[in-house]
Amino acid sequence: MNFEPSEEQAAAIDAWNRYLERDIRPRVEPYRDQMIPKALARELLAATGPYGVGAGWVAEEDGGLGLDFVTSGLLYEELARVSPDVAGLAFVNEGAALKLARVGTPAQKERYLARLLAGELIGCSAISEPGAGSDVRGMRARAVRDGDVYRLSGEKSWISNASIADLVVAVVRTEENEFSMFLLDRDEHRFETREIDKLGLNGWSLGQIFLDGVVVPASSMLGPPGEGLRESMKGFERSRCFISLLGLGIARAALDDSIAYARERTQFGKPIAGHQLVQDLIAEMATLLEASRLMVFRSLALMDKGGKHNMKAAMAKSFATEAVVRIASSAVQVHGAAGIAREYGIERHLRNARMLTIPDGTTQINRLIIGRELLGTAAFA
Ligand SMILES: Cc1cc2nc3c(=O)[nH]c(=O)nc-3n(C[C@H](O)[C@H](O)[C@H](O)COP(=O)(O)OP(=O)(O)OC[C@H]3O[C@@H](n4cnc5c(N)ncnc54)[C@H](O)[C@@H]3O)c2cc1C
Repeated sequence: MNFEPSEEQAAAIDAWNRYLERDIRPRVEPYRDQMIPKALARELLAATGPYGVGAGWVAEEDGGLGLDFVTSGLLYEELARVSPDVAGLAFVNEGAALKLARVGTPAQKERYLARLLAGELIGCSAISEPGAGSDVRGMRARAVRDGDVYRLSGEKSWISNASIADLVVAVVRTEENEFSMFLLDRDEHRFETREIDKLGLNGWSLGQIFLDGVVVPASSMLGPPGEGLRESMKGFERSRCFISLLGLGIARAALDDSIAYARERTQFGKPIAGHQLVQDLIAEMATLLEASRLMVFRSLALMDKGGKHNMKAAMAKSFATEAVVRIASSAVQVHGAAGIAREYGIERHLRNARMLTIPDGTTQINRLIIGRELLGTAAFA
């Protein structure tokens, strides 16, 4: 069991952190509470890709960097400390690229993969719908074959990157009990999107995709017919860990801010850092963060070894994303009234953290996955 990054990983993180502080932080600072415009999102993906963020998971023979998940996770955690919005943008783009690399035809890969990896195109993955959240099989969006084309209808909702996406990997119903993936190209297939006004992670797009009237050639199907949901489910273990990494980054920023403030703020004639109950808050924040890190990186290490580790990923996700809400809430408490003022930026950690207990399986769904594994009985379909 090894809890320390290797020398190579430590050197990569060091160079990455210097780059983040010098080049990325100043560019994203103005967009902490407003959506990063598409042109800048592309520039950021182009800038982070060569470091392994946004292009890391795809194998080298497909044009990616072929990074292991632990190394990728270390890089994402640092990025999320600086900007959870950019980390989200990149990990969703990378997820779409990985699906394309895994099951795309040579023609689909040739056309889109290198451009996705280079940040020239932005990708997203659309499963959820207004009526199908935790119960993904309830989705109603469908594709009906009509000669050489499919006609798509329906609506996708709560889709990360939706309103800036050039390419959508959409899962829709193709038969009564069959779901398939399609590759939708905004320029060619003319789907409409709408951004959703939300609580936190406001630099990162989250929106609806309207599919009515979308006609795609049959060659736009991604992967075999009827395999869309199964293929997407394969990615859930990974995405549960990477959404948790956003939480680790937010938690670290909240803890760092709280320690700095506690040392500087004076009440009752001494820095509040010297008051025992403030130390209790800080100690609990740091302990929750440490436990979350161990769980998330253990899951990533297991994924690198291969095999299915659904329960570990569900434990890591449900624990780490609830923990960061508590950590960010304590950060507000340490800052007193300054914690709730927008101008200090501490309340933003809490709003950002609060977003993470919902995607990639809510806390409740992840607990049901843990229960199913331990008890051998599924409490949900
Ligand atoms: C930041 C963010 C990013 C997202 N990105 C994407 C994306 O890129 N692509 C995509 O397809 N989707 C995305 N989603 C959507 C996300 O996957 C869904 O929001 C999630 O699956 C939950 O669905 P829902 O919101 O409809 O809630 P519901 O499923 O309606 O759940 C509502 C409540 O009921 C509980 N609940 C539901 N069923 C059960 C049960 N059987 N037992 C106990 N409790 C239950 C839930 O835990 C929750 O508390 C994103 C969501 C967020 C917030």
